[in-house]
Amino acid sequence: MEKNTVKPERRVTVDRVVAGVKVEEDQHLETQRPEIRPLSFDDYTGQTNVKENLKVYVNSAKKRVAQLDHVILHGPPGLGKTTMARIIGAELNALVFETRGPSIERPGDLAGILNQLTPGSILFIDEVHRLSIKVEEVLYSAMEDFHLDIIVGQGPAARAIRTSIAPFTLVGATTRLSLLSKPLLDRFGIQERLEFYDDDALTTIVKRAADIFGISISEGGAREIATRSRGTPRVANRLLKRVWDFTIGAGQSTVDKEHADRVLLRQGIDRMGLDRIDREILRVVSEQYDGGPVGIEALAATLNEDRATLEEVYEPYLVFKGFLNRGPRGRVLTASGQAHIDAVLQRDKKRDGSIFS
Ligand code: ADP
Repeated sequence: MEKNTVKPERRVTVDRVVAGVKVEEDQHLETQRPEIRPLSFDDYTGQTNVKENLKVYVNSAKKRVAQLDHVILHGPPGLGKTTMARIIGAELNALVFETRGPSIERPGDLAGILNQLTPGSILFIDEVHRLSIKVEEVLYSAMEDFHLDIIVGQGPAARAIRTSIAPFTLVGATTRLSLLSKPLLDRFGIQERLEFYDDDALTTIVKRAADIFGISISEGGAREIATRSRGTPRVANRLLKRVWDFTIGAGQSTVDKEHADRVLLRQGIDRMGLDRIDREILRVVSEQYDGGPVGIEALAATLNEDRATLEEVYEPYLVFKGFLNRGPRGRVLTASGQAHIDAVLQRDKKRDGSIFS
């Protein structure tokens, strides 16, 4: 790859109701009700360890009247990295400037952003692994001692100009920590990994969102949606809205367990929260590769899917659920993965429509 190019946009499949990546529907939800994003640590459900650690760092920075160390938040899409970055800003009473790695194409773009920062502010860079090397190099001195070293001119006339910038905290978010270069990663003093949410936390999140949207939901209904949301708040919020639309359409006034189950099955989301593509992955590994191991490239080719999408969007949840293992020789179906896909295929045989379609 040429050094100064932005790392290429990867194709991430988003046309699935259980994708953690953000789609237009989610933007609409957030625009309609911005308070759907928790605004303080106390309002942020789950991620207890991450939250406790960040609280300590934030309080210590406040007490010392010092700049909070740079923070990297990593984990699958939709788990609340952006939300957490904004909360850090709010808890510090600091302005938050937001951008994305792919939007910063040249060192000059980054210099422009850094020069805008006010003392004590937060710069949030989503998809920070997508910065080009040239841009990263500018970031190093900015992160270390709040200086910008920019080369102006070319050839023999080129010269370095050093300017100061306001002290700031960089909060980076990434779904792929392994793609971050070591020099960049080393400059984040605080590194926190967000995990998939458990069913209790997601049930609380669904009930909170229902409250904000004025949706009437039973405890059983909230839990049903929670367990089918891939451990991901963004998916939970989206499924809640889908189920609600069907509830209204059916002339009901409350989302209950039975109705949620029916709607979600109709949307192709099974009781483990897997959708058609997840099941297809398990079926292909089972039937075409005899349970594995199968290399990621071969699997991607068979499924006609992009490798990065498989690694970033589908696999983490299948691994989390214990259906798939990522070994050195490739992907292997686990006993419970095999049992799940056997049960699905068995059910398919017994009825007309396939849950794969
Ligand atoms: P990421 O940046 O990791 O992709 P976001 O911070 O954009 O995820 O969160 C996705 C959606 O999920 C947001 O609408 C947010 O309101 C919701 N959300 C995330 N984490 C939580 C949480 N802990 N409690 C409640 N809602 C959450």
